[in-house]
Amino acid sequence: MAAHRHEATPLRHDWTRAEIEALMDLPFTELLHRAGSVHREHFDPAEVQVSTLLSVKTGGCPEDCAYCPQAQRYHTGVEAQKLMSLDAVLDKARAAKAAGASRFCMGAAWRSPKDRDIPKVAAMIREVKALGLETCATLGMLSGEQAQALKSAGLDYYNHNIDTAPDFYGEIIHTREFQDRLDTLEHVRDAGMKTCCGGIVGMGESRAQRAGLLQALANLPAHPDSVPINRLVQVEGTPLAGTTELDPFEFVRTIAAARIMMPRSMVRLSAGRETMSDELQALCFAAGANSIFYGEKLLTTANPEAEHDMRLFRRLGIRPMQVVEEAGTVHADIVDSARHGCAA
Ligand code: SF4
Repeated sequence: MAAHRHEATPLRHDWTRAEIEALMDLPFTELLHRAGSVHREHFDPAEVQVSTLLSVKTGGCPEDCAYCPQAQRYHTGVEAQKLMSLDAVLDKARAAKAAGASRFCMGAAWRSPKDRDIPKVAAMIREVKALGLETCATLGMLSGEQAQALKSAGLDYYNHNIDTAPDFYGEIIHTREFQDRLDTLEHVRDAGMKTCCGGIVGMGESRAQRAGLLQALANLPAHPDSVPINRLVQVEGTPLAGTTELDPFEFVRTIAAARIMMPRSMVRLSAGRETMSDELQALCFAAGANSIFYGEKLLTTANPEAEHDMRLFRRLGIRPMQVVEEAGTVHADIVDSARHGCAA
């Protein structure tokens, strides 16, 4: 069945926090009904995009994101690894293609790539592209020149999360400013690449601050093509270990509001899915989530077994989303960009 896409809901970039809070305050069933209605205007609700990501450089990051096991300063047991070799990346990309992948995302735990890293990553992008795969990457903050260089190498998508609301940012990260994130996103858009951009909830923020995260995403000059909504994975050794767990219904409310506010974006369940029950995931799909991570390790965070996901899909009557390429061929989009909430 083809996706039901039309232009019924105009895109908005002028959401006020009060409007978003009013949405999130709706009775739960009313909020789900509204989100489900918007979802159906643009997507087939029986289809969910399935994605994986390869970490090409893990750990040893100089940033201090309070949620992240890859930050060098926290002792989480994550071993720092150097940038993978081109050949090793290509082996993974070939395997992904053989498994039916159309898109291949490379993630590196950097504050930002050094200029000397760009040719190495550009070579990966060119060679992965030459295999006939779409490319995406998440490498940290980019200058305008770096974004242009990656685009010239053939990069299609760039993931860069805004983490949390502007007024909660200083509680979570001290080594960069919220504005730094917006600047990189602007460079990515200006270079002509598609954006994947979301954040993390359950870090001790208030509902108003969750509304603030969604406000910042929806009021970007262009809605991100993909919006990963991560639920905090508490890792021993990070400052956020021991944070009070977010009420699961509050997570669903956040998903529903994201769907209503960014009706044509892919709303993705990312990190934290492995701690969600099947029933909670089903509620998220009903609230308009239409993308998940599947299979490949999601950076350093365990991901539910692929077989379990497929069983859940069958129980819910959900199919992996098919992507129609410009050339007219159809394939399953099983490798895509995003990460466990790493803003890099
Ligand atoms: S989230 Fe990304 S930028 Fe932050 S510490 Fe982890 S790897 Fe570094």
